[in-house]
Amino acid sequence: MIDFRTAQGGQVALEQERLDGLRAALRGSVVLPGEAGYDVARSLWNGMIDRKPAAIVRPAGAADVMQAVNFAREHKLLLAVKGGGHNIAGKAACDEGLMIDLSAMKSVRVDPKAKRARVEPGALLSDFDRETQAFGLSTPTGINSTTGIAGLTLGGGFGWQSRKNGLTVDNLVSADVVLASGECVQASAEQNPDLFWALRGGGGNFGIVTSFEFRLHALGPEVLAGLIVYPFEQAQGVFEGYRAFTAKAPDDMTAWLVLRKAPPLPFLPTQVHGTAVVVVAFCWLGDMAKGQELAAGLRGFGKPVGEHAGPMPFTAWQAAFDPLLAPGARNYWKSHDFKALDRNVERVVGDAVAQLPTDECEVFIGHLGAAVNRVAAGDTAYPHRDVEFVVNVHTRWREPSQDSKCIGWARGLFDALAPHATGGVYVNFMPEDETQRVAAGAYGPNYARLSKLKATYDPENLFCLNQNIAPPGRATAR
Ligand SMILES: Cc1cc2nc3c(=O)[nH]c(=O)nc-3n(C[C@H](O)[C@H](O)[C@H](O)COP(=O)(O)OP(=O)(O)OC[C@H]3O[C@@H](n4cnc5c(N)ncnc54)[C@H](O)[C@@H]3O)c2cc1C
Repeated sequence: MIDFRTAQGGQVALEQERLDGLRAALRGSVVLPGEAGYDVARSLWNGMIDRKPAAIVRPAGAADVMQAVNFAREHKLLLAVKGGGHNIAGKAACDEGLMIDLSAMKSVRVDPKAKRARVEPGALLSDFDRETQAFGLSTPTGINSTTGIAGLTLGGGFGWQSRKNGLTVDNLVSADVVLASGECVQASAEQNPDLFWALRGGGGNFGIVTSFEFRLHALGPEVLAGLIVYPFEQAQGVFEGYRAFTAKAPDDMTAWLVLRKAPPLPFLPTQVHGTAVVVVAFCWLGDMAKGQELAAGLRGFGKPVGEHAGPMPFTAWQAAFDPLLAPGARNYWKSHDFKALDRNVERVVGDAVAQLPTDECEVFIGHLGAAVNRVAAGDTAYPHRDVEFVVNVHTRWREPSQDSKCIGWARGLFDALAPHATGGVYVNFMPEDETQRVAAGAYGPNYARLSKLKATYDPENLFCLNQNIAPPGRATAR
């Protein structure tokens, strides 16, 4: 017998033959504790999360996902779904439940003539970039190439191309979805349009996507991008310059700020390593000469202590932050949306950065606006269409003994920023303990419609391990 936890918090024991039956029905595999591949399949990016499912299904295609969903529903099992395993909340794995690990489904197929890509849900951004850039095409995704395309898309998705071409969901043309009933349907503007609306920001609440179809845009293969590094002592000037620069930035230009201790990067003098710095990270997608002219302005916020910028392959720029955001570290993140970065925000962030609890902790300020905000809040489940900046508190450390110090620092900074923020939050940047922020913070005006659609597509809340949207009148999963 194999013991499983049920979605309602109870226990159910299944005979080995039932698992054998599931195994026999799949083109992919079932992996049990102790079997080869179990630990890799259950591992997540956030080293704080160490969950041990009773069984892991590794589907080879949509038919396997349908089998696994039917199996979970029929036995009322607690069900977790893993795309790239990057989500900070770590809900892609569960203790004693059934986990569906989609990482074997990685295909990315580009139709260059139609400018479309068909992408399976186990693909990482690096897989997507490699295949699409072979044709000089792309679509907006995130800034760290080891992130999974599935979770990123279902929450919204933004990065270096978003100011020009919108969110990832704004470029989703259709999706194949396995519903809680086990049926596989297509969602698009024409087919199941309500479901299509909900998928564009509603996370994993409505079904398991087995294929995404994206609209592609011409890009690169080279972009003008890089890092300009200022000493932390010049933060005030950098914020001033940054505010003025971003207020006038064209859609082709995106500039983020990163405040942290300088890593030992070869282009920085050794005496700067380990000291607090403010980094301007930028990417220009337009004409190179025009971009060079514009980027010169980013060097005038103070006296930079180092720079690594110039024309480079977009795929290289997409991987630029990978070493700093490698999997395995303990992580606790907090996030707020902002319409403007006023002096209060600057002061609060500055005070916190003066007391970074570890050398890996950082504050990331993401630059949105432009095309992202030219979509109405009700057009997709993702509602934050008036946000110009996202401030992310990335708390990273190695030792469990540092948990309370690091988490305390993140919460302190989050609380101090709250009075200046919109109150909204990007669902993909929420840690596990923010269930209370899902309705008002992550979805706001769109929550009521999402909750009604949850009742249509997943009335029993089979897909509960996510930032959970409950059907009306039911409690959300914790
Ligand atoms: C280092 C780092 C950098 C990041 N940078 C960015 C960024 O630049 N821009 C941005 O927008 N976001 C960014 N994110 C956030 C990222 O979008 C989310 O963490 C996202 O959930 C990751 O997707 P995943 O598939 O890897 O995650 P997973 O942890 O595998 O999945 C997250 C959740 O999505 C659901 N899910 C996954 N696959 C499916 C599927 N096929 N069908 C239905 N539901 C599914 C499940 O509920 C799961 O719990 C970053 C995260 C990290 C850790």
